[in-house]
Amino acid sequence: MRPCPLIRERFGFPVKGLLFILHRMNYEVMPLGPYQANCSVLWDDPAQAWIVDPGADSAAVLGFMAKRGLQAGLVVLTHCHFDHISALGDILVKFPVPVVMHADDVDFAFSSYNVMPPYRQTPRPASLVTDKRDGDALSCGGLTARIIHTPGHTPGGWCLFFEKERMLVAGDTLFAGSVGRTDLPGGDEAAMDASLKKLKALPDDTRVICGHGPQTTIGTEKQTNPYLRGGSVGGW
Ligand SMILES: [Zn+2]
Ligand SMILES: [Zn+2]
Repeated sequence: MRPCPLIRERFGFPVKGLLFILHRMNYEVMPLGPYQANCSVLWDDPAQAWIVDPGADSAAVLGFMAKRGLQAGLVVLTHCHFDHISALGDILVKFPVPVVMHADDVDFAFSSYNVMPPYRQTPRPASLVTDKRDGDALSCGGLTARIIHTPGHTPGGWCLFFEKERMLVAGDTLFAGSVGRTDLPGGDEAAMDASLKKLKALPDDTRVICGHGPQTTIGTEKQTNPYLRGGSVGGW
């Protein structure tokens, strides 16, 4: 019997009689705005794409969505900082969808303190969802992410771990070769150390979309990133 071509494409190949599951994920990473924060669009169902961290240049995000025929199903904010949330208003005009963020970052996110020209204050969206906690699953459009609460850069920072697809959207917790600052309001060195331990426990082949800069993998960072090789954030 011929295998279904769709299943072969989506699920990879058999290894020693076991089906080695390789889930595919469609995604685009766009560095946007003066701080070049990475906005990610991830999707399985084109009618329900995830937009993570729409920080600036809504025209670029909406242009990409239109070009690929995508509708949004969800917006997720990895943390409160202006360079990750400032295009939110424009995105919600086009796609009035739920906006998910950790409760501990909400007050700062939409306050007048969270500005740095040319970034302006972002109004609190009516569709804000703040009941998700560490370990919870977040599902939309055929994709499911486990929330990993990673305070340290901000109190309510979190990472999205797409376990089946081996993908982590890390916000400003982890960068290629570095980690997020802990000296901004709400930063906490000890919390950052604990958060990085959680990320070190993920599979080495987990691809990481960082909040700024290039993508990496957990395995690469465990080998080359001084903060993951044993150095604590407070020790540097
Ligand atoms: Zn940032
Ligand atoms: Zn940040």
